[in-house]
Amino acid sequence: MLSKPKIVMMFHICIALLLLPTSEVGSQSRDRDYYEKKGEVVWELPTEKKVIALTFDDGPDRKITPQILSLLKKHNAHATFFTVGNRIKKNPEIIKQMALQHHEISNHTFSHPDLRHLSTDQIRKQIQETQNIIQDITGTKPTLFRPPGGYYSQKVIATAKEMGYLVVMWSWHQDTRDWSDPGVSKIVNKVIKNARNGDIVLFHDFGGRREQTVHALEKILPELEKKGYHFVTVSELIAIRNQYPVKTNLIHPLSIQKQEPSFKESERSPN
Ligand SMILES: [Zn+2]
Repeated sequence: MLSKPKIVMMFHICIALLLLPTSEVGSQSRDRDYYEKKGEVVWELPTEKKVIALTFDDGPDRKITPQILSLLKKHNAHATFFTVGNRIKKNPEIIKQMALQHHEISNHTFSHPDLRHLSTDQIRKQIQETQNIIQDITGTKPTLFRPPGGYYSQKVIATAKEMGYLVVMWSWHQDTRDWSDPGVSKIVNKVIKNARNGDIVLFHDFGGRREQTVHALEKILPELEKKGYHFVTVSELIAIRNQYPVKTNLIHPLSIQKQEPSFKESERSPN
């Protein structure tokens, strides 16, 4: 028989184990409430409207990203691409295409480091270099930033904010983990079964067998369309959410400066 103090001790150990983070992103979960209330970081934006924001990290990829762009076009879907500066440099024409299709081109650093280990100056350089490249191609300063791996610290958030960015994460129930090549049906089921108004879905258009992401999208886009969803960029979602909110911890309205692209209608490609 266990004595009462031993049972109490075991109970406390069990509780402590339950509270242990299951992943590194999970380890930051206690911060979510704090940053969400302050309006400095966004995970999802619950709204009355049937809208969902699809996001793609780590590209552009010469092969995969154009396939995703053509699928999005077929379904009149807008998406947000968290792009990496050194990959944009190799594929500037893909970024131009994204802009022409009215997708939101956002900042995901220059070389995808874990920012928690960098100095403020290094973080600033990572963001600034990518900002300059995007601005050179599209004429527009990006306003959304996602830290690589979703790993953030107070320093990362403060630096991004000071540079005019809103930090955007993703809905925890919409982390497709497509980077781990889980198979098309797993990616599809995750998104379809969990879909809620104002979700921010996490995909990747670079790394691993990203054909899985493309094939999953071939199913996800028509299926969610059938359920009445529209696919919007994160900035569009913010605007919709500010107009049609449902009660959450978020401050509202969220404010980010939105700039119009500086290239002209006439410069658009005919397709
Ligand atoms: Zn990434």
